[in-house]
Amino acid sequence: MHAPEQLAGRLRASGRKVTPQRQGIIRALEDDNRHPSAEMVFEAVRSHMETISLKTVYQTLNDLADLGEIQALDLGTGALRFDPNVERPHHHLVCRGCGEVRDVFTDIAGLELPESAAHGYDVDSAEVIFRGTCDRCRTPVPTQQSQPTQEDQWPI
Ligand SMILES: [Zn+2]
Ligand SMILES: [Zn+2]
Repeated sequence: MHAPEQLAGRLRASGRKVTPQRQGIIRALEDDNRHPSAEMVFEAVRSHMETISLKTVYQTLNDLADLGEIQALDLGTGALRFDPNVERPHHHLVCRGCGEVRDVFTDIAGLELPESAAHGYDVDSAEVIFRGTCDRCRTPVPTQQSQPTQEDQWPI
């Protein structure tokens, strides 16, 4: 993702409006390494900007994805997640318990599609989703109920 100032310029150049709400969304994305869902972005911006709407968040995320500034990812956590790191190819590590997403920068040596499985495609990239259980989800909760709370769903 470009820096907020450049990004505002790119949005304007593509004929899109740059409102304070949209700038708030861009700033929220800039420092967010959680691969937030639209709802997570909405909550982050709403904490300091009450005039934000979920619809504006969706529209802005779509626009940014169209411009290639962020990537929309379906990581099987129940909601699309948005990744501002489009500069450096990477894989993802996803917690089955809470849906936390981590970037993984590793060369997966030998990950190649055999020609017989490539269906004639010229394959040039692969993204891998590693799944497991994060540290926090492995630690037993010392209460009688182990039901995850709303807070546990979306770690901050
Ligand atoms: Zn977890
Ligand atoms: Zn990522």
